[in-house]
Amino acid sequence: MSKLSLYYNIRAVKGGASIKKIIVAEYAGFCFGVKRAVDIALKDSKNKKGSSYSLGPLIHNADVVAYLESQGIYQIDIEELDKLSEKDKIVIRSHGVGPDTIKRIKSLGPEIIDATCPYVASIHRKVEKYHSKGYQIIIVGDKDHPEVEGINGWCDNKAWVTKDGEDLRNLSEKVCIVAQTTERQESFDQVVKRATELGADIMAFNTICSATKERQDSAEHVSKQVDFMIVIGGKNSSNSRKLYSICKSNCPNTIFIENGKELKKHILELQEVDSIGVTAGASTPNWIIEDVLKILEAC
Ligand code: SF4
Repeated sequence: MSKLSLYYNIRAVKGGASIKKIIVAEYAGFCFGVKRAVDIALKDSKNKKGSSYSLGPLIHNADVVAYLESQGIYQIDIEELDKLSEKDKIVIRSHGVGPDTIKRIKSLGPEIIDATCPYVASIHRKVEKYHSKGYQIIIVGDKDHPEVEGINGWCDNKAWVTKDGEDLRNLSEKVCIVAQTTERQESFDQVVKRATELGADIMAFNTICSATKERQDSAEHVSKQVDFMIVIGGKNSSNSRKLYSICKSNCPNTIFIENGKELKKHILELQEVDSIGVTAGASTPNWIIEDVLKILEAC
């Protein structure tokens, strides 16, 4: 199998008088952890005694959240936890949470269904271990992202959260560096470099998830080949936004849509191009990708 066919899934379709090429990134859509969380929620949250909730949107995709609601799984925010009763069930999403949140939910009595991605749970264990050994924890990521907030909880919320290391000062002698699973490799490398320059004794764990890298690499390859690029993902999905920024830097004609309905506004632009690339963030289900492809094939 050629390298090209490993990377690309190419569909050639008739587009009016011209032939258009549609290239779908090989790695696009639901990752293992998100699919697992949705499967766990749908399987284990049936609740005849009380209500079922997810702590925050189970995934960053409005269409999937609406589907989960149709199945009786409602979103509840952390500020609303006091509404829970012993009869309820609550799903912890793939982003995970800190130990204080788990303790608080336990004190309220509902059944906890833990759908934390195993890769994120492994970061929690590392951070807890090295924090207890006196290491200063550095998280490479977005400080307001729920995954980062959850990781920070495992070191008493004392981590230094940085995007590029430029803000690092007066580090402890020993530091432990981890990354948000959706972070870019360059950011992680930059932070390790900066911490090294500051003379710290470093224990660095590259915790960037391969699902993220695979999606970013295949988006990079596809967006270099096409006239027009479509990134499908939730507007609040950080991994989808990162795919958008990668694609946009290679292909100025890149759009970011949540679903097929949003694509319809771009139909005229699509008819002007010969090749179209498609990728999707880790929280985009296959049925939304297929819907977009059907619209493209009908162009
Ligand atoms: S991106 Fe990776 S770490 Fe994050 S949920 Fe998906 S599989 Fe888990």
